[in-house]
Amino acid sequence: MTRRNSEPVERPNPPPRRRAVAAPAPAKVTIYVAGSVHAPPRRKASAAAGLFIDQDDGRNMGRCVPANGEQSQYVAEFFAVLDAVRNTNPNSTLTIFSTQEYVREAVNNKLSIWEHEGWVGTPHRDVLRCLAAELKARKTPTIFKLAEPGTPERMRCRQASVLAKEAARMHEDARWDLSLPRDTALPGMSLQGNRQRVFYRGIREIKTGKMTPRPSTTKTLEKVRKAAEDTFGRWASDTEIWRAVYVKEILPRTAQFLWKGLHNAHRIGKYWTHIPECADRATCKTCDETEDLEHILVGCQSPERRIIWEAAESLWLKKETNWPAVSLGTILGCGLADFRDEKGKPKRGTQRLYRILMSESAYLIWKLRNDRVISRDGEPANEEEIKNKWKYAINLRLQVDITLANRPVTGKRPAMAPQLVLATWSDTLDDEQSLPADWLREPRVLVGSRAFPPIPTRRHNSRGIG
Ligand SMILES: [Zn+2]
Repeated sequence: MTRRNSEPVERPNPPPRRRAVAAPAPAKVTIYVAGSVHAPPRRKASAAAGLFIDQDDGRNMGRCVPANGEQSQYVAEFFAVLDAVRNTNPNSTLTIFSTQEYVREAVNNKLSIWEHEGWVGTPHRDVLRCLAAELKARKTPTIFKLAEPGTPERMRCRQASVLAKEAARMHEDARWDLSLPRDTALPGMSLQGNRQRVFYRGIREIKTGKMTPRPSTTKTLEKVRKAAEDTFGRWASDTEIWRAVYVKEILPRTAQFLWKGLHNAHRIGKYWTHIPECADRATCKTCDETEDLEHILVGCQSPERRIIWEAAESLWLKKETNWPAVSLGTILGCGLADFRDEKGKPKRGTQRLYRILMSESAYLIWKLRNDRVISRDGEPANEEEIKNKWKYAINLRLQVDITLANRPVTGKRPAMAPQLVLATWSDTLDDEQSLPADWLREPRVLVGSRAFPPIPTRRHNSRGIG
């Protein structure tokens, strides 16, 4: 048996075997969020989310929201909250501060209701659904708070807003991952405890989703978008155009008329060409042209169209220097009107007057045209009747404004801000020099008589000859 070298074998010491230990998660994290919208003239608006944690923190960021979605501050804030939730260690208690009560209310109270209702009719549901799922995936509490004015939290939210503003100006086509974490989202809507109205709306949404857009509607929407861009210097999405029909200044019946106009759903023009024995109804008897809505409101030689637009322009020029060209786009999109002073501040009174004048005038032309074609066998109303009907329509709006601004006398606030009514109608009233600056309580305040030039009267020589 041979003996090996007695010297012990030296082996290098192996490196100590340690399990990788991650840095401990902080117990509490506070994040300040904000959203911002950049809307340059004649360009599509761009919204961005801003997130602020601390000065010189590498996680502070600003990022555009998806370009194909709605570009609003609320949407941007929801994306900022989503980013805050995703980028925080799930073992840390997270507190999120926002300046928007809407966001706090939505996240604290509404998310569970919307999820229960299957997100039917919920605006911005893509991001909200994702946010609800991410919140459920967290194991530690997430607290949402409102940053009250004058507090340090408000200042930090403002810094988040600066980051969002900078990002919004970049106009980047940002891509957001809106996939849901596994086993966190409820599929469909809950059959228990939901109202009939929600089920009905859900069915309507499914049916509407299967429809393809009507080509004539798409064409009209493009016309309105182009007119808003050329006249008011703003780019409007389809949603904004539809919403503009239902602004407060447009009465419900007029809004219905404009809505049908956007859909090209009035029974005029080409509607009749394929109906036997009715094909002649497609043509305007006054002009011998196809009688579509654009022809009736903008191109027809009928006296009602000419007199009413002249009156509207004349009244407008008492207040402003430039009357925007009347087109089908500006009529159907009058709710998109945006007038600003030299400093860029919105002129709310001017904007309100424009919406009232355009919607009331267009609807009156439509009613007088129907009267002429259906009841009067093509014979137009006389000039005096047209003028009186227009004056009545505009004065009715003025009187409703005055009543709303004067009521109630004491206690609660009036139904309409008196300053807004004064800003809307001042410089357009009859005999305004004789009225006090606050004319809301004066009797017999009227508008419109000055919209028509006086009819020249023949001077009679009273002395005569002989
Ligand atoms: Zn015509």
